[in-house]
Amino acid sequence: MNILDEVKNCRTIGISGHIRPDGDCVGSCMAMALYLEKALPKARVDVFLGTFSEALQKNIAGAEKIHHEYMTDVEHYDAFLCLDCEKERLGDALDLFMKAGKKINIDHHRTNSGSGDVNYVVPTASSTCELVYTTLDERLMDVNIARNLYIGMVTDTGVFMYSNTGRQTMEIAGKLMEFGFDFSAVVREVFYEKTYVQQQILGRALLESIRFLDGRCIVSMVDRRTMHFYQATSSDMDGIASELVHTEGVCCSIFMYEIEPMTYKVSLRSTGEVDVSKLALLYGGGGHARAAGCTCNASYHDIINNLAPYIEEQLNAGVHV
Ligand code: AMP
Ligand code: MN
Ligand code: MN
Repeated sequence: MNILDEVKNCRTIGISGHIRPDGDCVGSCMAMALYLEKALPKARVDVFLGTFSEALQKNIAGAEKIHHEYMTDVEHYDAFLCLDCEKERLGDALDLFMKAGKKINIDHHRTNSGSGDVNYVVPTASSTCELVYTTLDERLMDVNIARNLYIGMVTDTGVFMYSNTGRQTMEIAGKLMEFGFDFSAVVREVFYEKTYVQQQILGRALLESIRFLDGRCIVSMVDRRTMHFYQATSSDMDGIASELVHTEGVCCSIFMYEIEPMTYKVSLRSTGEVDVSKLALLYGGGGHARAAGCTCNASYHDIINNLAPYIEEQLNAGVHV
C-alpha cells in the first residue's frame, strides 16, 4: 500500500488507534500524521487517542497535538485511518471512523479480519509501525517520523527479542536509526525505565503470583484497591504479563487488573507452547499467538478456572507457535 494513493485527494484526515494506547499505537498514529501533514500540506490531519504514559508523551514527536477528547468540528472526515487494531477497539473514535468517506485499516493483529474499505492487515509484521513504514515514501521521511516508528517497533518486539522480529523488521529499524535520533535513550526511556509506582506494582504482582499446571503457567492479579493505593493507572500495568512469563519453566502467563468490580483487563503471554490469541478470543479479545488480551466480566477465580483447561489442552497437544 502507498498511503498517498489512498488519501491524496482528501482535505480532512482523521487517525486513531486502540483504547489504552501503547507505543506501537501512538507511534504509528503520530508517524502517519506527521508524514501526511508534510506530504499534503493543504490537508487537515487530526489524531484522536486515549491518554498514554509519560514516557510516550515525552518521546513521541507531536504527541502534544493529539486530541484526547473525541470532539471535532469536522462533520465527517474524507478519510479515517484505524491503526494497530480493528474497529471494535477504537473506543470513542469508532463513530468518527464509521462516518468517514473512506475507512482505512492498517494492523498486524492476526485476529483482525479487516475493518475498512481498504485494509492492510499483515499478521507476520512485527508492528503497525513496521507496516506504516512500508506505506511511506522514504524521501519524505524525517527524524521525527523515524523515531516514532522506531518506538512502535521496539515496543511490540520487546526490543527486537520476540519471535515477531524478522529480517524486514531489522532492515527497517536499521534505516530508521540512520536518521540520527538517540535510539539508546529512546529504548531506555520507553521500554526499560519505570516509574517508582510501576516498579512497586510490578513487585507486588510478582510477589503474589501463583504457578499452576505443574509450574508451566503463572497468574497474578492487581485489584482496584491496590491500584488506588499506589495511584496506578492502566498504563502502569504494561509489561507485567511479559515479566511473569520470563519465570523459568513457565510457558504461559496471565496477568489481570480490575477495571471495575467483576471486570478485569487480562493480558496473556506465551513462550510458544500456547497460542494465547485463541484464549483471548474465548472472551471476545484477540491479539497475537504469543501476546494477546481481552476484557473479562467474571471473578478472578472463574477466569483462571475457565482458561486453565484450554491452556492444558494446548500444552498436552504440543502446540508450537
Ligand atoms: P496487552 O495484553 O493489552 O498488552 O495486549 C497484548 C496484545 O494483544 C497486543 O498486541 C494488543 O494489541 C492485543 N490485544 C489486547 N487486547 C485485545 C483485544 N481486546 N482485542 C484484540 N487484540 C487485543
Ligand atoms: Mn498496540
Ligand atoms: Mn501493535
